[in-house]
Amino acid sequence: MPSPLNRRRFLQFGTLGLGGALTASQAAWAKTLLPGTQTVTDLDFQREPDEVVDVVIIGGGISGLTAAYALKQKGRKSVKVLEVRDRVGGRTLNAPTSNGSYVELGGQWVGPTQDAVLGLMGDLGIGRFPTYNTGRQVDQTSSGSLGPLEILDYLNAVRKIDNLSKMVPRDNPWNAANAAQWDSMTVRDWMNQNMSTDAAKDIIEFTVQSDFGGSTRSVSFLWFLFYVHSATNFNTMSDKAQRWRIEGGAQTISLKLARKVRQKVQLNAGVDGILWRPNGALIRYGGRHLIAARKVIIAMMPRDAANMRFFPHLPAQRDALQRNWGTGQGDKYFAVYPTPFWRQQGQSGTGLSDNQFIVLSWDNSPSDGSVGILGGFAALEGSQRPPTFALRRQLVLRSFASFFGPQAMNAIEVHEKSWELDPNTEGCVSPLEPGFLTAFGPALREPVGPIHWAGTETSTVWCGYMDGAVRAGRRAAEEVDLALG
Ligand SMILES: Cc1cc2nc3c(=O)[nH]c(=O)nc-3n(C[C@H](O)[C@H](O)[C@H](O)COP(=O)(O)OP(=O)(O)OC[C@H]3O[C@@H](n4cnc5c(N)ncnc54)[C@H](O)[C@@H]3O)c2cc1C
Repeated sequence: MPSPLNRRRFLQFGTLGLGGALTASQAAWAKTLLPGTQTVTDLDFQREPDEVVDVVIIGGGISGLTAAYALKQKGRKSVKVLEVRDRVGGRTLNAPTSNGSYVELGGQWVGPTQDAVLGLMGDLGIGRFPTYNTGRQVDQTSSGSLGPLEILDYLNAVRKIDNLSKMVPRDNPWNAANAAQWDSMTVRDWMNQNMSTDAAKDIIEFTVQSDFGGSTRSVSFLWFLFYVHSATNFNTMSDKAQRWRIEGGAQTISLKLARKVRQKVQLNAGVDGILWRPNGALIRYGGRHLIAARKVIIAMMPRDAANMRFFPHLPAQRDALQRNWGTGQGDKYFAVYPTPFWRQQGQSGTGLSDNQFIVLSWDNSPSDGSVGILGGFAALEGSQRPPTFALRRQLVLRSFASFFGPQAMNAIEVHEKSWELDPNTEGCVSPLEPGFLTAFGPALREPVGPIHWAGTETSTVWCGYMDGAVRAGRRAAEEVDLALG
């Protein structure tokens, strides 16, 4: 249903979207962005845009929508969010189960010190509940039971990591006094120099694999230290970040934000090209639409931003940052049962293994426990993924049965999400390699002409998490609001 304003515009100008809806001053301003003598051959910018706004936000995940909401709260009305998918939420995604509950196929947990996302949830009326963790956990890993030496080794390492991480500035980790040294080594290099037991190393390996989507053998030690500092400390990152679940599922945050800024969100609006000038930009989306904006916020992982074309090219350091940004993937599975039967057996739902298809499981039932849901991560690279869903389903259920007994085979249904196969998300998390941060990091948040950068990866606090997405969205909105005057 068009708003009265849109209806009036429609009547006045006829076909909205073919250039007729601009005011004379908007059209004149948009002309100042046209390429002039420069030839743009492959994308059609050489015409009057369909629309002119103050701010275009590209990306309707938590970060982009938070930016839109923040701009709305600042009284900015001329804002548009362009989202390539037919839904908002980006790396958060709820899916309904056939017995009336839901599973969260992307981000799902929040924890202490994540004040930005917790505060936003409070504003939006979204509740949280403790992650179910009562009872025995199953540990089938080789490092399952640590001896006193191994425990000491682990605790010493964590203490050292926390101390070193505080020496890495969250605003500009590439400027740490030891940045060059730490960015020339991997986490494994550091572990080999500072730890003596394999079992203790295995625990850090597990944390790095689950939080960075990469191995200690390839993740930069500088990036690792920054990430730990950004998440407060090692234990807060590796353990407390999973303390609470979100009522209704994590995508609810974006769904509610989108409702707050409703008319400003355009779905199925993938941006493929941006022509930028010092005073604004022309943005091509949905294959044929053109919108002009004084400011642009790009709210996505840097690697996703590399899929858009920029005219002129972005500065070399920014361009390299986007193209070479390291990405890590994850396959997430859920098995749905009539009840959380493992609870009756005194089990928490947590299972760990280094020889099953599922390497980590958890209780993902709703807050009232009315339905039983087990979640699980598989630790396989794409090429090793069993070829059919029927096979993968079987492997998932067998893993759960090895943790919680034969009843686990009787699932009502199994859900899976392989982010690697999702064309609109290049990566879930960021296992940056040695050398990357010191070479390209300074371009991470530096605006380029009218373009400002959001997305959780640009956050100094809880980088990579939903909390970081909220903070980054607010920071970018603040920058743009100030710049617009
Ligand atoms: C499996 C998994 C588990 C996770 N677990 C947790 C967790 O438990 N807790 C936690 O805090 N975080 C978790 N995360 C991370 C969390 O989901 C992200 O940090 C957060 O959702 C990122 O939000 P964002 O807005 O920065 O980016 P995104 O959610 O990636 O949003 C970017 C948006 O841009 C859109 N887009 C991309 N290209 C274009 C284009 N050309 N034109 C228009 N739109 C475009 C995308 O469709 C997307 O909607 C997890 C992520 C995954 C994938």
